[in-house]
Amino acid sequence: MTDDVSIGSIDIEQAPTPSEDGMGCHSAGKMEAAARTAGKSEILDQYAADYPTGPHDKPQSMCPAFGSLRVGLRMRRVATVLSGSACCVYGLTFVSHFYGARRSVGYVPFNSETLVTGKLFEDIRESVHAMADPEKFDAIVVTNLCVPTASGVPLRLLPDEINGVRIVGIDVPGFGIPTHAEAKDVLAGAMLAYARNEAEAGPVATPASGKSDRPTVALLGEMFPVDPITIGAMLDPMGLAAGPTVPCREWRELYAALDCSAVAAIHPFYTAAVREFKAAGRPIVGSAPVGHDGTASWLAAIGDTFNIKADKIADAQNRFLPAIKGALAATPINGTITLSGYEGSELLVARLLIESGANVPYVGTACAKSDWSLEDRDWLEAKGVKVKFRASLEDDCSAMEAINPDLAIGTTPVVQKAKERGTPGLYFTNLISARPLMGPAGAGSLAQVVNAAIGNKDRMDSMKAFFEGVGTGDTAGVWEGAPNVDDGFRAHREKKLAKAARAAKAAEMI
Ligand code: SF4
Repeated sequence: MTDDVSIGSIDIEQAPTPSEDGMGCHSAGKMEAAARTAGKSEILDQYAADYPTGPHDKPQSMCPAFGSLRVGLRMRRVATVLSGSACCVYGLTFVSHFYGARRSVGYVPFNSETLVTGKLFEDIRESVHAMADPEKFDAIVVTNLCVPTASGVPLRLLPDEINGVRIVGIDVPGFGIPTHAEAKDVLAGAMLAYARNEAEAGPVATPASGKSDRPTVALLGEMFPVDPITIGAMLDPMGLAAGPTVPCREWRELYAALDCSAVAAIHPFYTAAVREFKAAGRPIVGSAPVGHDGTASWLAAIGDTFNIKADKIADAQNRFLPAIKGALAATPINGTITLSGYEGSELLVARLLIESGANVPYVGTACAKSDWSLEDRDWLEAKGVKVKFRASLEDDCSAMEAINPDLAIGTTPVVQKAKERGTPGLYFTNLISARPLMGPAGAGSLAQVVNAAIGNKDRMDSMKAFFEGVGTGDTAGVWEGAPNVDDGFRAHREKKLAKAARAAKAAEMI
């Protein structure tokens, strides 16, 4: 029963409210302290263990909650409800629809009063009761964004299910989850935990696609749609099949994923999901079948995990490795590339670029190091690549500026900086990670876009020359006279900002 639940213990002085300007992405320390006071220490400690921070401790990309929101929105018969500041929800729904979400995002609004009196929790509970129609939904995901998490809104006290509709409550604050990639893991892990409890309690439904008659390898990580098919084809000679891809597209796939014989951590940041697979007794294999070397060692690792005879492993390798080698040789990439991103697949892409012939001196990933990325790191470092986990925007930009590459692949601000310098740039998320990467289909898939971008150097130079002299920063744009820079005003503001920064630093140390 949850009828008598209240969050009356929240200290009104401590609880951040939407009217407190600045209590957002950039006040991680204050928000975290408030969340701990409001009873969220356990989950924040778990996040700190799962997603270790450093050198930066707050998101430098889009709101992390976009990751978990997208995972929910892509699942059939799953409703998503956000609880957070209106500005955050506006941004998240905007980005969701920009990326093609075909469903509405639910929102339970709040104000200072409903937040601190506990009425927000009552409103959320009322909303899920009103929505829980088993004809429409298998599950409803409720997500606490920063402010409700910091205020201790206790989603764990929602009922586990209503009318047969599962209720999954998660906290996805920017001060606990550093990237949107890791937020995908928060929801995937919560759903796997729920599904594992269901499977342990009794029989569960088979997925619409049926059950494989072979041992399966569940795949962790959102991939280009052809990648799981390619992986399945490469597993076939060893008598294995590709299982579901987690994050799943329907609830019943979660059971099939847990029913696998092994898990391939294709994307290496799914710590919570791995915890659930390990609890179900499934072994985990790191890295991925990318390029020649990656595919050879991944097939060997999978074969060893299943105790498959060496000749069968060699058979699988011999069927695919020559084709991969041929595709890589047929589509060479010449040039120096710096690569950075926040999707978690950066190391895999770097391997493919290097095997295609590119010189890649630097790879930065906003995700943390994990057991399942070590093989890729070792391979890259053996080729002389500087690999930076939890790379900050500053790391990525200074690497790009120091190396002065023929092409910078990175996040929006890195690419923007590169283009300002006249260096060709490609967005990792939209243009690189949304391509096939695995096995023969992945070999050579990057060459066209990468070579075209490198070939654009002349265009970048002429654009740079064209815009030369229009000013930068606050003097950018078209001015009728000289830009009206007021040095005195600027010096005054800088002094004030420095003073505020010193005061904030001193307050931190108290
Ligand atoms: S919910 Fe996202 S956008 Fe809103 S304050 Fe937190 S990190 Fe920033």
